[in-house]
Amino acid sequence: MSSVLTSIKVPFHRPSVGEEEVEAVSEVLRSGWLTTGVKTAEFERRFADYLGVRHAVAVSSGTAALHLSLEAVDLMPGDEVLVPTTTFTATAEAVTYTGARPVLVDIDPQTMNLDPEDAERKLTPRTRAIIPVHLGGQPAGMAAIHALARSRGLRVVEDAAHALPAWHEGRRVGTLSELTAFSFYATKTLTTGEGGMVTTDNDDYASRLRWMRLHGIEQNRSDGPAMGKSWSYKVSHRGFKYNLTDLQSAIGIAQLARCDAMHRARLRIAQRYSDCFASSEALETPRCQPDCESSWHLYILRLRLEDLSIGRDRFIEELDQRGVSASVHFIPLHLQPWYQEQLGYEVGDFPVAEAQYQRCLSLPIYPGMTEDEIGHVIESVLEVANLGSTRH
Ligand SMILES: *Cc1c(COP(=O)(O)O)cnc(C)c1O
Repeated sequence: MSSVLTSIKVPFHRPSVGEEEVEAVSEVLRSGWLTTGVKTAEFERRFADYLGVRHAVAVSSGTAALHLSLEAVDLMPGDEVLVPTTTFTATAEAVTYTGARPVLVDIDPQTMNLDPEDAERKLTPRTRAIIPVHLGGQPAGMAAIHALARSRGLRVVEDAAHALPAWHEGRRVGTLSELTAFSFYATKTLTTGEGGMVTTDNDDYASRLRWMRLHGIEQNRSDGPAMGKSWSYKVSHRGFKYNLTDLQSAIGIAQLARCDAMHRARLRIAQRYSDCFASSEALETPRCQPDCESSWHLYILRLRLEDLSIGRDRFIEELDQRGVSASVHFIPLHLQPWYQEQLGYEVGDFPVAEAQYQRCLSLPIYPGMTEDEIGHVIESVLEVANLGSTRH
């Protein structure tokens, strides 16, 4: 390695925020209106137009977006909701907020997304809904999931925390199912620091989401502000405190304007990685499903462990020593103590997810990466793969 490259440190993520965001937040601070107001309404309108969906409802996190979506389809205690085991804990945690029970499902070995055939095996008379997660931005097999949902009367709520923007058979994620939840957490492809959005074409869901995100207070009432009673409000439901502030929405508007450009930048990095890693026997690169396009929120590389003398953990350590921070998405939920203690899952329950977990790592991929940083990641990965190769 050249001495110049060894001094490079490539963090796993750097948010792409610039002067537009700083200026937008300052404008809101000077305006005197800090919480949900005109900026949030504008962010929602622009987000809905960007995806081509009737409604976008802004909330305080992706987890809140999932919770309100599940609340909107009337889940009851005792209901069961199918969730892939390879996801962040928020997906299944949101199910428990409604009193329903998450039922974990194994994944497809190629896409690492929920396996519709295993979902079918996990159905019981209490199954009410299914939450496909588009892992890393790679769309889940929505055709099979929708077919299963139709035949068994299941509601479909998509966890699109990674999937802005992503396409499935020519259509954008966010327009495919009755409810889709997005996250604007600091590391996601569009960030507001913390934040989330639900998209839907259904007017009833949209009104319910708007009430429930702000204490169950009914909006657009005939006896309210329009009738000269600006102080009046009506609590029609037990809601939640899940609204997004105008400070955050102003950041979101600035980010959304760059969403396609940021996607092109990640796509380019993904293509560079895949071209360069194709030569190594020990590396399996992520491939998009036919007719789909990933957001490339994550670049999940998989190791062919049979061709390596080192495991995934050591591979990440070696990268770290070369200044490259990698991560793992995700530790399957059934391996986590809470899911084992509360829901009775055990090691060995989801063999496909476990096998992929043992061999996957996520590489840095974000628009602000410099050419030197991209080159250094490639050089380091190939060097570690070669060092650990059993084919010398
Ligand atoms: C980030 C994430 C969430 C939760 O989003 P927050 O905005 O952090 O609440 C949900 N599901 C997945 C798969 C995520 O990665």
